Amino acid sequence: MKVLLVEDDAALARGITEALVREGMVVEHCADGVRASELPASPGGPGQAGGTGDFDAAVLDLGLPGIDGMAVLRQWRARGRGFSVLVLTARSRWSDKLEAFQAGADDYLTKPFLMEEVVTRLRVLQRRQVGLPRPVVQQGPLSYDTVAATFALDGAPLALTAQEQRILAHLITRPGALVTREDLVRHVYARDLDPDSNSLDVLIGRIRRKLAPHALIHTERGRGYRLQHEHAGAALD
Ligand code: CA
Repeated sequence: MKVLLVEDDAALARGITEALVREGMVVEHCADGVRASELPASPGGPGQAGGTGDFDAAVLDLGLPGIDGMAVLRQWRARGRGFSVLVLTARSRWSDKLEAFQAGADDYLTKPFLMEEVVTRLRVLQRRQVGLPRPVVQQGPLSYDTVAATFALDGAPLALTAQEQRILAHLITRPGALVTREDLVRHVYARDLDPDSNSLDVLIGRIRRKLAPHALIHTERGRGYRLQHEHAGAALD
């Protein structure tokens, strides 16, 4: 998943970024509220719920230079930006929490906090964002624990690189749905990559080999990919 971190404390931002990257997430950091509020509202691709644009979630500090985090949040929501927002702030009064929820926050965590809790809450928000009711997603022999962010194939742990993990997580949390190349590239890579670049095909090829002999990832030629367990006899690509 791709996370937007809005935090003006440089040391804290570094710590959070390192922790999230260690957990396989892609992080874009923004240190001031004005820039954060002006982030372009890129349209959600086809099949993408809520127009989340580039990001799956944001971690938002409230005390920011220039413009308060609460105002940033209101502007995002006014512009229809649908990604999940976890407010991370020193403000611990109920009135602050209520105001944040009314401005469109999905979750609220006060400083000091446990890094593990930020990671876990982001993963849960992501699961809810895509409308999955259960913490474990199953497609035939492949299962994905959305809280631990781990995969198992035929019951055995599946070892993946961070990039492979992000791609497979993006696909399996949208079971049976067409995921476009553009969508995968936006949510999986740190920087803009040409969706036509063959590095995506190379990665998909590697994941397919790890999932063998099961053919779970189907290509929709020129459009994207679909992860679905199809019973024997069903048409596979
Ligand atoms: Ca701050």
